[in-house]
Amino acid sequence: MSENPRQELQELVAGLETFLKFQRRLGWVGTPRPEKSMSPSPQDATTKRPTLAEIREEMGDCQRCKLGMGRTNLVFGEGPPQARLMFIGEAPGAEEDLQGRPFVGEAGQLLDKMLHKLGLRREDVYITNIVKSRPPRNRDPEPDEVEACLPFLFKQIDSIRPLVIVTLGRIATQNLLDTKDPITKLRGRWQKFHDIRVMPTFHPSYLNRFPKERIKTWQDMQQVMEYLATHEED
Ligand code: URA
Repeated sequence: MSENPRQELQELVAGLETFLKFQRRLGWVGTPRPEKSMSPSPQDATTKRPTLAEIREEMGDCQRCKLGMGRTNLVFGEGPPQARLMFIGEAPGAEEDLQGRPFVGEAGQLLDKMLHKLGLRREDVYITNIVKSRPPRNRDPEPDEVEACLPFLFKQIDSIRPLVIVTLGRIATQNLLDTKDPITKLRGRWQKFHDIRVMPTFHPSYLNRFPKERIKTWQDMQQVMEYLATHEED
């Protein structure tokens, strides 16, 4: 994530250590891989949770807010239904709107690069946004738009039950956590959404504009990887 070769090497070594620990805990190195990475708590075992496909079906050709009119494709999200790590961004941009997939534009390239450096593949994590339709000219989503879309995000979270959620940027962080605290105050500090750990960090678009800040997100992600590596069975 850094422009400095020496720092980059240190980050690479730290990342590799965390990665190996993570792989070992998953059973991909040394021991057999456990059947399930997350098991529901006893009281949840009887409650039927909607599948991602059911939630997507419920959204349909969503026109619950004014963003529905202007979009090309609804960007629901993608990744394994039992992902242990979930990323939440703000809203689809132009490229996401065209492809119907989250984080496939410039910001997505940086996210992919970061995942790669952490030893993760895109297919290992679930990626979605606060709102599923592109706001015009990439403006911030408005409160009524967030309000219309948030219930579907909550259902996605409840369906996946990730071990950790990483919120990318102010909009994702403030809306998920229902706070007005600035991202500069929240990033790098563990938060909770119900019983799920949340790590707020900077949005990749911000990091593309201010590359010197990338080290902070890298450090935030080290905390996330460390937590995942040590909480395999939770
Ligand atoms: N920015 C976001 O917040 N989400 C995307 O999917 C793409 C860019």
